[in-house]
Amino acid sequence: MRKASLLLVAWFLAFPHSRAQNQDFSKVEMKVTRVSGNVYMLQGAGGNIGASVGEDGIVIVDDQFAPLADKIRAALKGITGKPVRFVINTHYHGDHTGGNALFQKDAPILAQDNVRKRMEHGGTAGNLGKISMQTEVQPKEALPIITFEHDVTVHLNGEDIHALHFPSGHTDGDSVIFFPTSNVVHMGDDFVTYGFPFVDLGAGGSVEGMISAVEKVMAQLPPDVKVIPGHGPISNLDDMRRFVTMLKETLAAVDKGVKQGKSLAELQKENVLAPWQKWSGDFVKADTWLETLYNDLTGKKGEFIKHN
Ligand SMILES: [Zn+2]
Repeated sequence: MRKASLLLVAWFLAFPHSRAQNQDFSKVEMKVTRVSGNVYMLQGAGGNIGASVGEDGIVIVDDQFAPLADKIRAALKGITGKPVRFVINTHYHGDHTGGNALFQKDAPILAQDNVRKRMEHGGTAGNLGKISMQTEVQPKEALPIITFEHDVTVHLNGEDIHALHFPSGHTDGDSVIFFPTSNVVHMGDDFVTYGFPFVDLGAGGSVEGMISAVEKVMAQLPPDVKVIPGHGPISNLDDMRRFVTMLKETLAAVDKGVKQGKSLAELQKENVLAPWQKWSGDFVKADTWLETLYNDLTGKKGEFIKHN
């Protein structure tokens, strides 16, 4: 218990966007939105939960924080009396996997191989700069008991729920989850709406990988698809296009400076990200994003976990 609360404190220090809204979990309300077809979205604190709900039961994507498990269960009960059959984790971060140990009593958890490895071993998450935190070793009850290297499909509720790994984006274990019949996609934290994104360079993430993941996903989606971001309201392809354009432009702007031999301090002084100031958020401010881009472009690396 003590360890769990310390872990939460650590997450809140690293992720003030969740701290600001939700210091006290007892005040958190679970908001349920029907996205499209069989798919719902649950918003409480932490990452958005996607839920496929149908005659076979429930498949959820991510499970927020442990203290919210009962509220998540109650919200799901409000949609159907059927049980949770599987949980899929989009990546290892505690605001997406915090409920794992509790939900795994109900149903097996599936995730990409690196999600399990990172939860099993702990490590330092962050942008190798201002954002830095230790992630604790997780108990075995919290570890996904089914893992995959590239992709997996869960055939339930008349839907081929497809989890596809994109290497080295937000982390090195990100999966995007497709619900093709319902015309919904859950992006995990490869797409968020809180402004400049967090790229966990410490856990094998990269900005270029995030760009490539978002572009590859967009290329295979119908134009009217409903997008569940890792954090934020239901979005669409235009939102993702704006996001990826910003990623590419800011990466190019900083790359130009790096190629001219400029230091991070010089680039900060020049305020090279000024044209994208509107993306500066509470969590990742322009300075932190600049530092992320700089560290990524200059090859700073975290602990590398080999991809199989
Ligand atoms: Zn994350």
